[in-house]
Amino acid sequence: MRRVSLVVLLALGFLPGSASGQYPTVDRAIVAATPAITAIRHRIHQNPELSNRETETAALVAAHLRELGLEVRTGVAHTGVVGILRGGRPGPVIAVRADMDALPVTEDTPLPFKSTKRVQWQGAEVGVMHACGHDIHTSTQLGLATVLAGMKADLPGTVVFIFQPAEEGAPPGEEGGASLMLKEGAFANPRPEAVFGFHVSAGLEVGKIRYAIGPALSAADIFRATITGRQAHGAAPHLSVDPIVTASQAVLALQTIRSRNTPPLEPSVLTVGVLRGGQRFNIIPATVELEGTVRTFSLAVQDTYERRIREILDGITSSAGASFTLEYLRTYPATINDTTLTHRSVPSLAKAIGASNVVLWEPWMASEDFSYFANTVPGFFFSLGMVKPGTTSGDHHTPTFLADDSAIPVGMKAMAYLVLDYLGGL
Ligand SMILES: [Zn+2]
Ligand SMILES: [Zn+2]
Repeated sequence: MRRVSLVVLLALGFLPGSASGQYPTVDRAIVAATPAITAIRHRIHQNPELSNRETETAALVAAHLRELGLEVRTGVAHTGVVGILRGGRPGPVIAVRADMDALPVTEDTPLPFKSTKRVQWQGAEVGVMHACGHDIHTSTQLGLATVLAGMKADLPGTVVFIFQPAEEGAPPGEEGGASLMLKEGAFANPRPEAVFGFHVSAGLEVGKIRYAIGPALSAADIFRATITGRQAHGAAPHLSVDPIVTASQAVLALQTIRSRNTPPLEPSVLTVGVLRGGQRFNIIPATVELEGTVRTFSLAVQDTYERRIREILDGITSSAGASFTLEYLRTYPATINDTTLTHRSVPSLAKAIGASNVVLWEPWMASEDFSYFANTVPGFFFSLGMVKPGTTSGDHHTPTFLADDSAIPVGMKAMAYLVLDYLGGL
């Protein structure tokens, strides 16, 4: 009797429960597509474009999708692209989403294809960099489209590929991103019954995935307040209404919202990031400005913050004889992973990259406008490892953010297995 080694069986994916082998044609297609998709990533990385200005990236995406034979809509929410792949067999409609925009950050990485681009942004010249990894998202999703288009005849159902602009936020005075894509019909025809997406994570090695059940990414709100008192000589405080002392009390009192007004097991953050006032050491100024952010996962807690910030500012300023104005702005809602969809999706990820590499994790106190899609139909969003083992990456939105090419085939495989399992297999 001939003995076949365990190593050979594992390599061929013949063992039940092994990490590969469920879709051998997909695995082969990913290997074949990876060099071209990696080259596309380099091109996108080297030519980053700011939010709502992703014209070249969108043109590249649209051309690639057309070449694959997809139905393509362009100009959705300014520069967004929607590609529709209708499989040869009947099945459900689902959507996958990638974002295309870069940031006003000057790149400082050793990548041979690093960006040296500079543009005018809000009245100043700035560097532009894919410092959040959206180049990986866009190229990986083009890879997914390539692989699935190659098996179109056997595909049971329809995949809507969303390439969205302005995830980082549209420039002041402009609309953009996921909410505008939805307004302009990205989910209208055909309407998907579920949506999937991922974000690379600077804290995670290539080959690993983290996910959360339920709350995954927080809502992000901005507040801006001006406290107005009465100006006076620094040596005559009794003639003033001191906005610096008043604002200082407010900053401390605002922290009691977290500790006294919201349930202890409910995660939330309030940060005052700007406290601005005064010109000279011996002048009590007339006004002080406060700016901050609130991060929450539930609408009830978000409402509590907005109400309590106003009440606290009202109480403290009136006791000081000062006055205030407050602007409270809700930006992206929380991203909540649909529980049923998450439980259904995780085994597909485990099959794609190995169960031990797919880790249940806590929610992230960052926000994502994927939430608009996931508030429209059930959604599942996960974190994909991007750090080459043995190297380090700067944090998101910093010049040393360093996403490795090897994350691309891992992302392609994870998404391909998710999509195919959801649609019903090949
Ligand atoms: Zn970002
Ligand atoms: Zn991002």
